[in-house]
Amino acid sequence: MKATKIKTLLQSKERNLNVTVQGWVKTFRANRFIALNDGSSLNNLQCVVDFEAFEESTLKRITTGAALQIEGLLIESQGGGQEVELQVNTLSIIGDSDPEKYPIQPKKHSLEFLREKAHLRVRTTTFAAIMRVRSALSFAVHKFFQEEGFFYVNTPIITGSDAEGAGEMFRVSTLDLKNTPLNEEGLPNFKEDFFGKETNLTVSGQLEAETYALGLGEVYTFGPTFRAENSNTTRHLAEFWMIEPEMAFYDLTDNMNLAEKFITSVLKDVLERCQEDLKFLDERLAKEDQSKPQAERSPMGLIEKIKFVIDNDFKRVSYTEAFEILRNSKPNKKKKFVFPVNEWGVDLQSEHERYLVEKHFNCPVILYDYPANIKAFYMRRNDDEKTVRAMDILFPGIGEIVGGSQREERLEVLEKRIEEMNIDKEELWWYLDLRRFGSVPHSGFGLGFERLVQFATGMNNIRDVIPFPRTPQNAAF
Ligand code: ATP
Ligand code: MN
Repeated sequence: MKATKIKTLLQSKERNLNVTVQGWVKTFRANRFIALNDGSSLNNLQCVVDFEAFEESTLKRITTGAALQIEGLLIESQGGGQEVELQVNTLSIIGDSDPEKYPIQPKKHSLEFLREKAHLRVRTTTFAAIMRVRSALSFAVHKFFQEEGFFYVNTPIITGSDAEGAGEMFRVSTLDLKNTPLNEEGLPNFKEDFFGKETNLTVSGQLEAETYALGLGEVYTFGPTFRAENSNTTRHLAEFWMIEPEMAFYDLTDNMNLAEKFITSVLKDVLERCQEDLKFLDERLAKEDQSKPQAERSPMGLIEKIKFVIDNDFKRVSYTEAFEILRNSKPNKKKKFVFPVNEWGVDLQSEHERYLVEKHFNCPVILYDYPANIKAFYMRRNDDEKTVRAMDILFPGIGEIVGGSQREERLEVLEKRIEEMNIDKEELWWYLDLRRFGSVPHSGFGLGFERLVQFATGMNNIRDVIPFPRTPQNAAF
């Protein structure tokens, strides 16, 4: 039997309508009121049972977590708190739940506790809201690029090029660990491995996306990305989803303009489509903030923060300007930074990024023209010979949300850089071919999807915005 979604019923203007619903019990009060939720909306449907019409043994089975199918009459609610309710006619228990053992009780659970119950946490109001926002955001991502005329490309997940993230990649191998074939040097012989060479899980689809941009014009990827970095932070996962647009004939300014338009556009979309969920998450964050010391409280609420980002231009600042601001900043002079900012060329740490975004500018910041030495080989060199056309977008509370650049399109300059950085040029023959045949200025960026979901939901820990987080020592489920 096809049931009607609870979301549809809660919005319905019709009354005295006979309907069937299916969902899970959130609570059952006074042997009379079932709060039923089917995941379609934040709010539950109140289903009113005439307990005299049902067997005691049936009523006993209506417990938190149990799955029900209910047929009844949708009427104007008799009580306050909701507009409609369902007068239960027939009720069947599709799946029992043991109330003694079901871990999701109708009370507040800590996020840490729920991480251990990742297979059930989506049955909580908070996680259902987060995951609906996540879904709406991914749809908004595709919608934005498709409407802008971009093509969606799927770059490989198993990659044979290790030019990018040396050291932080997950190896893909079918070699027998107990009986590994060795080469003459006594090292694992990858010639005998599945692909006949060393392969890894991708850390970025950029290099491959570039090949497609130089044929299709404007493309984007949106797929899983893997980093074996052993960083236990609230912003890093070992498996995350990255969005990587790559555009032919774009310079760095075009790239920044696109990134800014993209972020504001998808945020506008969810603000519109996820009003209920965002209102709930906004209140959740406000409550959480209440329990913090004054100094750590957020100056803005969640929805206010999203609107602020949509309504205000991102501040564009060169690395050199940012360096001067940081060098002359109070925390630097008072030696409050763990990494002091004294010499031009230092890499910016998250403490510096946060200072710039949260203390100095108080808005999203695009930093550009970084020192060449702290950036990747493929970024376009500026005429000053010291900086490259890189740009990072920094967000309040998140830090880096986007990393991008204009790519080096000049063959000789790129080859020279590859040699300087001791990267295996042979491996990159296909990448260099792009600079041999119809090379054009082009640009792109990578946006970590979970960091965007963090911003949109106000969740502090990245582990709470992906269904099954993978982090060091943790791949359960
Ligand atoms: P960070 O300095 O925060 O580690 P990064 O410089 O390593 O970031 P890039 O290599 O530029 O990041 O990747 C592009 C984007 O992917 C980042 O801006 C960020 O949004 C996201 N990202 C990078 N690493 C992770 C990770 N381990 N987990 C989740 N998102 C990530
Ligand atoms: Mn990183």
